[in-house]
Amino acid sequence: MDEYLEYLLQDLQLSIQRAKQEAVISGMNGLGDAGTDLVTSFASYSGVEAVAFPPASRLKDRQLKKLLSAIHQLLDSMLIELVFPANLPPNREYQLLLQQWTQPFVLKLHAFQPLDFCELDMKNCPYGEQFCYCKNFQTDWEDM
Ligand SMILES: [Zn+2]
Repeated sequence: MDEYLEYLLQDLQLSIQRAKQEAVISGMNGLGDAGTDLVTSFASYSGVEAVAFPPASRLKDRQLKKLLSAIHQLLDSMLIELVFPANLPPNREYQLLLQQWTQPFVLKLHAFQPLDFCELDMKNCPYGEQFCYCKNFQTDWEDM
Protein backbone atom coordinates (compact mmCIF):
# COMPACT_ATOMS: atom_id res chain seq x y z
CA MET A 1 0.00 0.00 0.00
CA ASP A 2 2.80 2.45 0.84
CA GLU A 3 4.30 2.14 -2.61
CA TYR A 4 0.95 2.68 -4.26
CA LEU A 5 0.28 5.72 -2.10
CA GLU A 6 3.59 7.26 -3.14
CA TYR A 7 2.42 7.17 -6.76
CA LEU A 8 -0.93 8.64 -5.85
CA LEU A 9 0.67 11.40 -3.78
CA GLN A 10 3.03 12.17 -6.65
CA ASP A 11 0.08 12.49 -9.02
CA LEU A 12 -1.62 14.88 -6.66
CA GLN A 13 1.57 16.90 -6.21
CA LEU A 14 1.96 17.22 -9.97
CA SER A 15 -1.57 18.46 -10.42
CA ILE A 16 -1.07 20.99 -7.64
CA GLN A 17 2.06 22.32 -9.34
CA ARG A 18 0.27 22.45 -12.68
CA ALA A 19 -2.64 24.32 -11.11
CA LYS A 20 -0.27 26.87 -9.59
CA GLN A 21 1.42 27.45 -12.93
CA GLU A 22 -1.93 27.89 -14.65
CA ALA A 23 -3.00 30.35 -11.98
CA VAL A 24 0.18 32.37 -12.61
CA ILE A 25 -0.39 32.30 -16.37
CA SER A 26 -4.04 33.33 -16.12
CA GLY A 27 -2.98 36.05 -13.68
CA MET A 28 -0.48 37.35 -16.25
CA ASN A 29 -3.09 37.34 -18.98
CA GLY A 30 -5.45 39.32 -16.83
CA LEU A 31 -7.83 36.39 -16.59
CA GLY A 32 -9.07 35.05 -13.31
CA ASP A 33 -11.64 37.78 -12.92
CA ALA A 34 -15.32 37.19 -12.40
CA GLY A 35 -16.72 35.75 -15.60
CA THR A 36 -13.99 33.16 -15.97
CA ASP A 37 -15.53 30.81 -13.40
CA LEU A 38 -14.99 27.26 -14.46
CA VAL A 39 -17.24 24.25 -13.97
CA THR A 40 -15.10 21.30 -13.09
CA SER A 41 -14.79 18.57 -10.47
CA PHE A 42 -11.94 17.55 -8.22
CA ALA A 43 -11.47 14.58 -10.55
CA SER A 44 -11.20 16.51 -13.78
CA TYR A 45 -9.23 19.33 -12.21
CA SER A 46 -6.63 17.02 -10.70
CA GLY A 47 -6.72 14.32 -13.37
CA VAL A 48 -6.89 11.80 -10.54
CA GLU A 49 -9.96 9.58 -10.60
CA ALA A 50 -11.97 8.76 -7.51
CA VAL A 51 -11.26 5.04 -7.92
CA ALA A 52 -7.55 5.77 -7.48
CA PHE A 53 -8.20 6.43 -3.80
CA PRO A 54 -8.19 3.36 -1.56
CA PRO A 55 -11.16 2.98 0.81
CA ALA A 56 -10.51 4.48 4.23
CA SER A 57 -10.80 1.03 5.81
CA ARG A 58 -7.67 -0.08 3.93
CA LEU A 59 -5.57 2.81 5.16
CA LYS A 60 -3.52 3.16 8.29
CA ASP A 61 -3.93 6.41 10.22
CA ARG A 62 -0.66 7.87 9.00
CA GLN A 63 -1.49 6.98 5.39
CA LEU A 64 -4.89 8.59 5.68
CA LYS A 65 -3.32 11.75 7.13
CA LYS A 66 -0.82 11.96 4.27
CA LEU A 67 -3.55 11.61 1.69
CA LEU A 68 -5.77 14.16 3.38
CA SER A 69 -2.97 16.66 3.55
CA ALA A 70 -2.29 16.19 -0.19
CA ILE A 71 -5.99 16.67 -0.94
CA HIS A 72 -6.00 19.80 1.23
CA GLN A 73 -3.11 21.20 -0.81
CA LEU A 74 -5.00 20.46 -4.00
CA LEU A 75 -8.14 22.20 -2.75
CA ASP A 76 -5.99 25.09 -1.59
CA SER A 77 -4.68 25.49 -5.13
CA MET A 78 -8.31 25.52 -6.31
CA LEU A 79 -9.04 28.27 -3.77
CA ILE A 80 -11.45 26.01 -1.93
CA GLU A 81 -11.70 26.38 1.79
CA LEU A 82 -13.07 23.38 3.67
CA VAL A 83 -15.60 24.16 6.34
CA PHE A 84 -15.40 20.96 8.34
CA PRO A 85 -16.11 20.59 12.05
CA ALA A 86 -12.79 20.61 13.89
CA ASN A 87 -13.39 17.26 15.58
CA LEU A 88 -14.55 15.41 12.46
CA PRO A 89 -12.71 12.05 12.29
CA PRO A 90 -10.21 11.91 9.38
CA ASN A 91 -11.85 8.83 7.82
CA ARG A 92 -15.22 10.61 7.74
CA GLU A 93 -13.64 13.66 6.11
CA TYR A 94 -11.90 11.43 3.58
CA GLN A 95 -15.19 9.71 2.68
CA LEU A 96 -16.98 13.03 2.21
CA LEU A 97 -14.23 14.40 -0.01
CA LEU A 98 -14.30 11.27 -2.15
CA GLN A 99 -18.09 11.50 -2.48
CA GLN A 100 -17.57 15.02 -3.74
CA TRP A 101 -14.72 14.03 -6.04
CA THR A 102 -16.69 13.66 -9.27
CA GLN A 103 -19.46 16.17 -8.48
CA PRO A 104 -19.55 19.22 -10.77
CA PHE A 105 -18.22 22.24 -9.00
CA VAL A 106 -18.10 25.89 -10.00
CA LEU A 107 -14.55 26.98 -9.50
CA LYS A 108 -14.16 30.65 -8.75
CA LEU A 109 -10.76 31.68 -9.95
CA HIS A 110 -10.72 35.01 -8.21
CA ALA A 111 -11.61 34.32 -4.59
CA PHE A 112 -11.56 31.66 -1.93
CA GLN A 113 -14.87 29.87 -1.62
CA PRO A 114 -16.09 27.69 1.22
CA LEU A 115 -16.99 24.03 0.76
CA ASP A 116 -19.46 22.98 3.40
CA PHE A 117 -21.49 19.77 3.33
CA CYS A 118 -23.72 20.82 6.22
CA GLU A 119 -27.07 22.28 5.27
CA LEU A 120 -28.06 22.93 8.86
CA ASP A 121 -30.41 19.97 8.75
CA MET A 122 -29.21 18.07 11.78
CA LYS A 123 -31.06 14.82 11.04
CA ASN A 124 -29.46 14.47 7.62
CA CYS A 125 -26.18 16.18 8.28
CA PRO A 126 -23.36 14.29 6.51
CA TYR A 127 -20.91 15.27 9.25
CA GLY A 128 -23.05 13.49 11.80
CA GLU A 129 -24.95 15.00 14.68
CA GLN A 130 -22.16 14.09 17.04
CA PHE A 131 -19.59 16.24 15.30
CA CYS A 132 -21.36 19.01 13.49
CA TYR A 133 -21.92 22.58 14.58
CA CYS A 134 -25.50 22.51 13.19
CA LYS A 135 -26.76 21.08 16.47
CA ASN A 136 -25.92 24.46 18.01
CA PHE A 137 -28.43 26.12 15.71
CA GLN A 138 -31.22 23.67 16.39
CA THR A 139 -32.53 25.17 19.61
CA ASP A 140 -32.53 28.66 18.14
CA TRP A 141 -34.82 27.48 15.39
CA GLU A 142 -37.19 25.72 17.75
CA ASP A 143 -37.59 28.95 19.69
CA MET A 144 -38.45 30.88 16.56
ZN1 LIG B 1 -24.39 19.82 10.21
